Amino acid sequence: SSGLPIIHHGKCVCELPPSHRFPMGKFPRVFHFLLKDQVITEKQVWIPEIASEDVLSCVHSEDYLKNFINGTINEAEQRRTGFPWGGTVLAAEVALQRGLACSTAGGTHHAFPNYGSGFCLLNNLAVAAKYLMNKSPSKRKILIVDLDVHQGDGTAFIFKEEPYVFTFSVHCGKNFPLFKQQSDLDVSVEDGLEDEEYLSTNSHLPGVLETFRPDLVLYDAGVDPHWEDELGRLRLTDQLYQRDLYVLRAAVSRGIPVATVIGGGYSDIDKLALRHSIVHRAATK
Ligand SMILES: [Zn+2]
Repeated sequence: SSGLPIIHHGKCVCELPPSHRFPMGKFPRVFHFLLKDQVITEKQVWIPEIASEDVLSCVHSEDYLKNFINGTINEAEQRRTGFPWGGTVLAAEVALQRGLACSTAGGTHHAFPNYGSGFCLLNNLAVAAKYLMNKSPSKRKILIVDLDVHQGDGTAFIFKEEPYVFTFSVHCGKNFPLFKQQSDLDVSVEDGLEDEEYLSTNSHLPGVLETFRPDLVLYDAGVDPHWEDELGRLRLTDQLYQRDLYVLRAAVSRGIPVATVIGGGYSDIDKLALRHSIVHRAATK
């Protein structure tokens, strides 16, 4: 395959009526718009495996996984729910080979080692970070840039004592979660923030890249800072494109591979899916 690698779980389901779409219907809809608008072709698609219990256990407790996997949901059900738990790991692996890779899902940053929270059951950002950190003979350094409007509390907690993972979160201070964890760098912003002020928070990134010197960036490009988002509380426009372009260029121009996940977003599904495709559009630029 050539061109920007797109990590997507399953097929385009645009031919199905809305009632037959997955509960997490936004993932296939993002993919649908990327194809429809010719941002990508099918040739660019990499299909992830379901993440194994081995991989997940580098972050999550054995008991939680046992109850979760045996008690709640089996592999066939995992596939049906459209939760592509292996997608972030694959995106990160492909990014290390190719420099840049984008998933059509991922960003479940509220999950803790032994419990789920805020629509997140397993923390795929943390799993990918820890798995790839350890997968190299000399440990890799991973930077997680989390620009979802909610603090990446699960991720911050998981890596609180881990010097090889740097967590950077820009979030709305009054938004969920009520009790914040401490990231390596937290930028808390006020309700109602607009494009210009928000984009100025990007200025923290070059310093982090140059002092921490990561081997890989995992970028959570959550679109819930958008003004139309039902949960966001900020007032950003589609200038989210500038945000994404800035993050991608900051890393790529320094020769640092980037894997992107779509993160949070809560709106009418087609508007939402289009909004989530902003990061893929920025990545093909
Ligand atoms: Zn969010």
